[in-house]
Parts: sequence; structure tokens; C-alpha cells
Amino acid sequence: MRARDCKIVATMGPASDPPERLALLIQAGVDCFRLNFSHGSREDHKRRMEAIRAAEQKAGSPVGVFADLQGPKIRVGKFAGGEIKLTFDEIVTLEASAEEGGPGLIRLPHPELVETLQPDDILKLDDGKLQLTVTERDGPRVRARVDFGGVLKNQKGVNVPTRRIPISALTDKDREDLAYALELGVDYVALSFVQHYDDVREAKALIDGRAGVIAKIEKPSALALIDYIVEEADAVMVARGDLGVELPPEQVPIAQRKIIRAARAAGRPVIVATHMLESMVEAATPTRAEASDVATAVYQGADAVMLSAESAVGRHPQSAVAIMDRIIRAVEDDADYWAALPRDMTPPQATTADAIALSARHIADVLGCAALVAYTATGSTALRIARERPRCGVIGLTPVVETARRLALVWGVQSVVTDDATDGEDMIAKADETVRRLGVADIGDRVAVIAGIPFGRPGKTNTIRLFRLE
Ligand code: PEP
Repeated sequence: MRARDCKIVATMGPASDPPERLALLIQAGVDCFRLNFSHGSREDHKRRMEAIRAAEQKAGSPVGVFADLQGPKIRVGKFAGGEIKLTFDEIVTLEASAEEGGPGLIRLPHPELVETLQPDDILKLDDGKLQLTVTERDGPRVRARVDFGGVLKNQKGVNVPTRRIPISALTDKDREDLAYALELGVDYVALSFVQHYDDVREAKALIDGRAGVIAKIEKPSALALIDYIVEEADAVMVARGDLGVELPPEQVPIAQRKIIRAARAAGRPVIVATHMLESMVEAATPTRAEASDVATAVYQGADAVMLSAESAVGRHPQSAVAIMDRIIRAVEDDADYWAALPRDMTPPQATTADAIALSARHIADVLGCAALVAYTATGSTALRIARERPRCGVIGLTPVVETARRLALVWGVQSVVTDDATDGEDMIAKADETVRRLGVADIGDRVAVIAGIPFGRPGKTNTIRLFRLE
């Protein structure tokens, strides 16, 4: 039977912690877990990581894990009295200072932000509930007009969608969390507050190949550079929580399409995240609009859809996973999905490996192969094939357990840890044994195998072989 192609990510939290619950979540369809470093202690993350690895071993198939770093949080300072009232059209002063503010005066402990603001810049406060537009600079201060008023409380968040803020995407806390997450052995690190491809480069230099980097796209400045960021990252996330604060609501679906298209073209896995089944934090079933939102992401070709609060603190984590699984399968059973799914993503300046992957997909489609088996040490061959979105499932055979886990995030790929083949005969024997064991092919079915011969030299994909199950 063909496995589900679009993957499911679930955020860990108290609701998913009990070990028996974790096993049920994997059984219900979770492919990859997210450790959210915005919440929880190091002990929590360590305990969760150990529990996931234990559940993975019991389940017998690779499970991915990523650490989601908090990133910088820009906040207003405190106010004498705890809050101030902002009235529509009022002019207020913004000042870089750690002191308390008051009526008409907002102080921010972020000199690098205040220095960079210019007339017409927009500041969204408290997740966009309040909004200011900068009218003028006055030496080190800035004046701004209130567009949407209300009560502004101590230390509420600030977003500046109109400007790249000259700060690193990694705070001191993030750097410490990153080192700790790598010690725990996460497969990916998700980077918040990406404004530029240099942010991804900086993280990659620190990580030095020990994990992949997921660039969370949550800012207009990142959207403007999406092709470059996608090229630099190992995966991307449509981080609709922050994106929804930075962009007007009508722009979020357009941004989602644009990010998915860019990631698909570059052959990078893309996760659609946040508020997918939000009402299931409380309710036992999703709204029909939420079901439709998940389905839309699948139709658009996302590699994975993500649960946040639903699985971390919700009342029905297992049902949320099961319903996501059903929605994905329903879309993948729809002929229209396959008719409209963007394929043929191979770039004109294709490498040999790209061309082999494309050809393998054509062969598998023409011959109606039951599976495409890819020998892949780094995962790149499996990624190339997944980019082509073949009708049959992709089996990634790898001697590297970390590669198998990273592939848990990739559309259509089931990965299996196995020794490298010794020769052509062994290559077919291992592929034959695996497709039988996974139940993805029946007697008489054809299977295509892609590999680099001689074995053991990553990046040398040069061979397609076909066999029939006897
Ligand atoms: C988001 O903004 O959608 C997101 C996933 O990031 P965070 O949960 O860190 O806000």
C-alpha cells in the first residue's frame, strides 16, 4: 500500500509528554516532533528527546526531531502604572531606554531598533492589536502616530514589518539552546527571526553539519529574499503565527504559496505551520475551515503540515494527528491533486543526479512502478526524487541513521537504515527485501532503484535499475 506522502509534525508539550501518548501519536501518524525552545526547561527538552528516541525504537521507523529556537523578541519597556492608553491619531514618542515609560512616551530597551526607524515605518504592538506609524525623527527619539489604539501593557511585543532590524537571529539564549539541542542530537534546528540569507549562513556555520537548518519565514524582509534563503537553508517553514502579525491577513495566503513554490523549486522540504487545527486545542473535531486549510497546504505541495498548541497543550492531541492524517490521505486520493501538483521542478542547469532523479520518476510513471528505491547517504538523492513528486512511494535506503531521520520531513519518502550495497546484485536484493517488508509492492510489481555506483561515494548518483518482484 502506498504510504501517506505529506508528513505530519507535532509540537511536544505537556499534552504529548506521557510515554504511552507519544507512542500513540507516532501510531496516529506523526513523522517529526518539534521541541519548542520558547517554552520549557532544558530538562523538559532532554526528557522529551529521550522519550521520542525510545518511542522511535519501539515503532521501528525513523522519527525526525527539530529544535525551534526562540529568536530575539523585541518588546516595549515597562510603564509607570503597568500600562498606557493609546488613542487613535495621537502622536507618541519612542525612546531607547531601560527606564519606565508613561502616557505619550514608549520606551524600548532596544537602541538598535530605535536608531534604525525612519518616517513611514510601521510598528505593530502586542501581536498587531495596536499599530503606530513613524512620522519623524527627533535626534535619538522618534515620533509616531497611533493607527490602531487601545491599552498597551508592560513588555508587549513589537514587530516592524517595514524594516530589517540590525540584530542577529540568534540571541545569547539561542546560542546556548543551539549548543544544547545539538548535544541532544536533534536532526534540524529551526531558526526564528530570519531577515536575510546571512542569518541562515551564521547558524549553519555554528551548526557545522551536525543538524539541518529550517529557516522560519515570518518577515517581509525574508519573503523578499525567499529564493536566496531557500537556497541557503536545508528546509523552510511558513511560520504563519509571526507572518500573520507582520503581514496584513490577506497577504498571508499569498506568502504561503510563494514560499511553497520557492522551496519546491529548490528541492527543499517546506512545512506549513501554525493554527492549522487550532480549535482542537479544546474541541474534539476541527472546524471545516481548518480542514480546508490543511487540505490547501497539501494541494499546494507542502512536504509537511504542523501542529502547535493542538499537540503541545491541547485536549485532543491524538485526534488532531489522526484528523490531519485523514485530511492528507483524502487529498492524496483525489485525482485533481495529482493533476494540479507542481512537478517537473528540475532546473535547466541540472546535475547528473538531478537528471537521473527526473528520469527515474518518468520511468516509474510510465511503467507504473510500485516504488522508487533510492540509495542515499546524505539524503540528497531522495530529496531530488521527492522534488519530482512521483506517483509511487520513495524508499530512502541509507547507512546513516541521521539521514533517515532528516528524511522524515520530506514528502513521499519512507527511509530505512541499512548497510550500503556491496555490488549490483546486493543492491537489488536489499531493495527487494525492503519493499516486501514495508508492504509497498506485490508479486509482479516493478520497482526502480537509483544509486551511485561504485557504492560509498556520496553525490555520485549515476544508475537506474529496474526489477520485478518475483
Ligand atoms: C510561527 O510564528 O508560526 C511559529 C511557528 O513560530 P513561533 O511558534 O516561535 O511563534
